[in-house]
Amino acid sequence: MRDGIDIEFREVGMRDGLQNTKGFFPTEAKIAWMKAEVATGMPAIEICSFVPPKLIPQFKDAIEVVEATQATDTGDCKISALIPNMRGAERGVELGMKKLNFVASVSETHNLQNVRRKPKESIEDFRHIVEMRDALPNDKKFFIDGGLSTAFGCTLEGSVDPAATVKLAQHFVEAGADHLTVCDTVGYANPKQVRDLFRLLQSELGPDVTMTAHFHDTRGLGLANMEAALDVGIRSFDACLAGLGGCPWAPGATGNMVMEDGVFMAEAMGLRTGVDLDKLCAIREIIETNLPDERLSGAIAKAGLPKDYTPATAQFAAAAE
Ligand code: ZN
Repeated sequence: MRDGIDIEFREVGMRDGLQNTKGFFPTEAKIAWMKAEVATGMPAIEICSFVPPKLIPQFKDAIEVVEATQATDTGDCKISALIPNMRGAERGVELGMKKLNFVASVSETHNLQNVRRKPKESIEDFRHIVEMRDALPNDKKFFIDGGLSTAFGCTLEGSVDPAATVKLAQHFVEAGADHLTVCDTVGYANPKQVRDLFRLLQSELGPDVTMTAHFHDTRGLGLANMEAALDVGIRSFDACLAGLGGCPWAPGATGNMVMEDGVFMAEAMGLRTGVDLDKLCAIREIIETNLPDERLSGAIAKAGLPKDYTPATAQFAAAAE
């Protein structure tokens, strides 16, 4: 984690947020969003997905978005892309990406629909990707994140056995994952379940395995789940500007956790995010202009900040002057 922050947020709106929207989000608007997001101080951004364009046409311009990002001074913002398979990893390498996020579902039915593989086949793919990575010259090597979808429940299978999540996580670690992202893909999680699952993963995987929590606000528990994860020591969170997002293979799954509200909650609790909340809220205009039919979420954007609110990031900066 970057110096001077207590929580690392990753903006996933440009990937998770856009993959299920109706219209094509123009390439220039994606690039403007990426630049504006970097300018807020956002520590990490997932900028696109290397899926076949015929499956998700939204990402047909992934190369342009990557190249524009590489031509931008992104400072120490961690730029990454999602990959479903080896082909995606190869594209990432060709484009010089330094961080790739592989994903497999704990739920077998979800994984079959999402990437047409059984979870154990996905782990085999992941193992081959790590082998490919390890054989590259040092300047081409990339950081690889293992993402566990439907870790808290699945629209197709219902409840998901925590033991199955632990097993998939262990397979990822054994295969060489540098980090794990534990995802409530369809918004089934509740705070008790979040505490229980992260505690279980921490005890089974040991202290060296770092994890990001990825919540959807489908049933209104995004922030409550974030607080529960904070409670058990998780300090890395995915969220999405204006709460866009969903999963095309999970009917009813709408809305990632709202980034603006997550940043507000963390800063109000004294946890520095490094993110400028005013600048972040201003980016909503890019979304509104380019997705006029999309319902934007976010309590802070609607209600404004409380009187005398001073973000933790500003308090620390003032104390250091
Ligand atoms: Zn998601």
